[in-house]
Amino acid sequence: MTSPIRLLGTLAACVALAVAIWLQYSPVNAGGQQAAAAKATEARVEKAAYGKMKDGTAIDLYTLKNAKGMVTRIITYGGIVTELHTADRAGKVADVVLGFKTLEPYLGDHPYFGAIIGRVGNRIAKGRFTLHGKAYALATNNGANHLHGGLKGFDKVVWKAEAVKAADGAALKLTYLSRDGEEGYPGNLSVTVVYTLTNQNELRIDYAATTDKATPVNLTNHSYFNLAGEGTGDILGHELMLAADRFTPVESTLIPTGELKAVAGTPMDFTKAMTIGSRIDKVPLAPPGGYDHNYVLTGGGGSLALAARVREPRSGRVMEVHTTEPGVQLYTGNFLDGSLKGKRGTAYAKHSGFCLETQHFPDSVNHPNFPSTILEPGRTYRTTTEYRFSSQ
Ligand code: BGC
Repeated sequence: MTSPIRLLGTLAACVALAVAIWLQYSPVNAGGQQAAAAKATEARVEKAAYGKMKDGTAIDLYTLKNAKGMVTRIITYGGIVTELHTADRAGKVADVVLGFKTLEPYLGDHPYFGAIIGRVGNRIAKGRFTLHGKAYALATNNGANHLHGGLKGFDKVVWKAEAVKAADGAALKLTYLSRDGEEGYPGNLSVTVVYTLTNQNELRIDYAATTDKATPVNLTNHSYFNLAGEGTGDILGHELMLAADRFTPVESTLIPTGELKAVAGTPMDFTKAMTIGSRIDKVPLAPPGGYDHNYVLTGGGGSLALAARVREPRSGRVMEVHTTEPGVQLYTGNFLDGSLKGKRGTAYAKHSGFCLETQHFPDSVNHPNFPSTILEPGRTYRTTTEYRFSSQ
């Protein structure tokens, strides 16, 4: 038997529900709903705690969301892009960059997943160069050579972060002061990197730097892409076009010989779209082989120009790379050997991602015929690279 008190309670609950439903759809609340809808389509940046370094330094995770709902995530350790979600031709979203779920593996040994690279990206032979008559010896961390800024490059430092206003999307500004003598480099270098996720589904990276002593500078980002989704297999079936008819051949330790060589008629030729895997086993490179080469972009650098277009045929995801840089390193994840596990728990085997590192040419400090990487005091280093995402 239902007691009158219980009946009354049920009645009250029904009335409350009816009022809630009415409130939800009544004109009284229309303004609130419109505001909520507007909010959902506004680009925004959110900050969350990501973890702590061994010395207790807090690392933050920033989520950038554009007006179309596209999302990327960046951490203050190394300025690493940890996630980048893009839609395929059916609208299905996948994370297309390799990386880890938590901070800990980023603090360990890993091949620069998603990180900002500096002070000088790529290799400097024997870590040595002479500038304005003075000889410098940098930290060597890649056999006898200096690679990607040395033992503790910009990929391993903690960046100051701040969400900034962007006319066309969600933006995060990262800053870092690289001290005079750091990794052997001259001059205090003040660096700013702004990541903008634009409302046109582009990840734009604006790099800037100033110095108080002449120094080489060559900044890039080391994201590994797999447009089928990270951890889903290799990238050999991706179709690649590179706007480059020459490349810089290398010797056995991947230092350029100084020559600018035509790609025509060789497995290096991507002037017309070809799958990455179509000729990869014919690339003359020391084991483990694959592509690990700097291409000389036909745009020549200086103004934003198309460097590369990549399409993953099954998903239809497309990424175009536009840059103000004169070169791009095509690296096909040759050294990935299955020992690192990614975000979905899959081991990253050889060729599970590719990098397109926009840059000045490797070892430019030792090749007067290459575009100069020297930044003088009083000047500002500025470069821009855009990764534009779509589907087809
Ligand atoms: C280099 C590779 C290197 C990789 C780091 C690339 O930029 O060209 O030789 O192994 O970075 O894992």
